[in-house]
Amino acid sequence: MKPQKILFVASEVAPFYKTGGLADVVGSLPKALAKKGMDVRVVMPKYQGLASKYRNALKSIGNGQVDMLFRAIGFEIFILREEDVTFYFIEHNVYFEREGYYGYPDDGERFTFFSKAALEMLPIIGFKPDVLHAHDWQTSATTFLLRSYYLHHPFYRDIKTVFTIHNMKYQGVFPKEVIHSLLGIDWEHFTHLRLEFFDQVNYLKGAINYSDVVTTVSNTYSEEILHDFFAENLGGTLRNRSHALKGIVNGIDYTIYDPSTDKKIFHPFDCNDRTGKAINKAQLQAQLGLPQRSNVPVFALITRLVEQKGLDLIDHVFHEILMHDIQFIILGTGEYRYEEMFKNFAYAFPEKVSANISFNNVLAHRIYAGSDFFVMPSLFEPCGLSQIISMRYGTIPIVRETGGLKDTVIPYNEYTQEGTGLSFTHYNAHELLDTVKRSIDLYQKPEQFEKLQVNAMQQDFSWEHSATLYADIYNQLFADIYATS
Ligand code: ADP
Repeated sequence: MKPQKILFVASEVAPFYKTGGLADVVGSLPKALAKKGMDVRVVMPKYQGLASKYRNALKSIGNGQVDMLFRAIGFEIFILREEDVTFYFIEHNVYFEREGYYGYPDDGERFTFFSKAALEMLPIIGFKPDVLHAHDWQTSATTFLLRSYYLHHPFYRDIKTVFTIHNMKYQGVFPKEVIHSLLGIDWEHFTHLRLEFFDQVNYLKGAINYSDVVTTVSNTYSEEILHDFFAENLGGTLRNRSHALKGIVNGIDYTIYDPSTDKKIFHPFDCNDRTGKAINKAQLQAQLGLPQRSNVPVFALITRLVEQKGLDLIDHVFHEILMHDIQFIILGTGEYRYEEMFKNFAYAFPEKVSANISFNNVLAHRIYAGSDFFVMPSLFEPCGLSQIISMRYGTIPIVRETGGLKDTVIPYNEYTQEGTGLSFTHYNAHELLDTVKRSIDLYQKPEQFEKLQVNAMQQDFSWEHSATLYADIYNQLFADIYATS
C-alpha cells in the first residue's frame, strides 16, 4: 500500500501566518506533495492575525471538544481549500484570538490544546490520515498522544507519524504536572527514555522518542545535532534514535519567490536579463532613504534578531565593515539588544545603514531583489531559507559553513569561477570581516561578480526533489509494515 492521506499539523503556515521558515515550509511542501497525487491536509490554529481575505473565506464545518484541565473544552473547525490542499483552522477565542503567536506564559496549555483538537477533529471531519506529519515542539504532542492517550482508540490505530525538527533550540519544557493536567496520560510516560527531562516534561524530546521517523531540515544539521554543541541537551536522545533520523533540505515555493513574476518587487528580471535588478536596487535605495548609487555594494540582512543568526559577529566588526564604501540594509525584529544595536548604527551612519525594525513581507521581497549580498553568519542554522531566496534573486549569500548554509551555498572559487556564494568556517568575527572584504573586491570585478550571480540564480531549490524524499519516507513506513506482517 502507498500512503495517500497525509495530515500536516503546524503552528504557523504561510500565507496565513508567518514568523520564520517553518511557515514557508508548511505552506509549500503540502502543495508539492499534492502535485504527486496525495490528499494532503493541513491543520493550524485560527489566530487573531488571520487576514480578513482568508477569514471571510472560511467555512465552519463542525465542533469538537478536548479533555484537558479536568474538564471538556470546546473548539470550532473551519475549512479553506487552496491549490489542491485543504486547510483546517481550529478556533478557540481565549487561546488563539490574541496578538502574535507565541511567547505567552500559557503556551504549553495553548499548544497542547491545539494538538489534542487536531486529533479530535479527525473523526468529526471523517479523515483518517495514513501519516500524521507534525512540526516543532508546538505540535509534537500529537505524536506522543497517539502512542499514549489514543493508543487503544480504534480510529487512531495505524496512523504513522513523522516529526520534523525545524530548530532544536525551541523545545517546550513544562513542569511535570502537565502529564496529568494537560496531557491526561499515565505516569509511565514520564521516564528518561520518553518525556522526562531534568524532572520536567520536554515536548520536543517526546516527539523524537515517539515518532516513527524524525526528520530535520538539512543533512548537515541532522549530523550536527548528534553532537552536544548543537543538540541543546538532547544529544543522548538523538543518538538513541539516530537510526530513525533523516535530513532533508528545504525547498522554496518557486511561484512565490520568482523575480520574473513577483508583484511585490519594483521591476521583474530573470537570469538572462538582469537589467531589472538595477532598477530594484535604485528604487529600494530611494524607498529607504539611502543615496541612490548604482556602484555601491548593498548588503542585506533579513532575519529574526536572535543570537542564533550570528548578530554578535556583525556587532563586533560592524564599524570596520562600515569603513568601506557600502550600504547595509537590515529588516528584522527580535531581541531588544539587537534592535537597539542596529537602530544606533543607522542613527550614526544614515548614509550607509537602513535599520527597519519590523516584520514586512513586501519589503523583504524588495530587499531580496534590490541587494547585492545577503549576510547570514549564523552560529547554527538548521536549514535557512533566506540564503536560498537570495540566490533566486541573484543576491549573493555570505554565510558561515554550518547546517543548511553549508548544504545549499557552494563556496565561490575565483580560479574556476564556480560556486554560488561566499563562506567562512569558524564562528569568528574577523573571518566574517575578511569574507565581507572579499565580497567587496569581487563586486569591483563585474565580470566575475555577474558570473557568480548567474551561478546562484541557476540553482534549483524548488520543492520537486525534496518532496520526493518526503514521499519516499511515507512510503517506507508502509513498506515496513508489510515487510513484518
Ligand atoms: P528562521 O526560520 O530561523 O527564522 P529562515 O531563513 O529559515 O530562518 O526563514 C526566515 C523566513 O522569514 C524567510 O522567508 C525570511 O525572508 C522571513 N523573514 C524573517 N524576518 C523577516 C522580517 N522582519 N520581515 C519579513 N520577512 C522576514
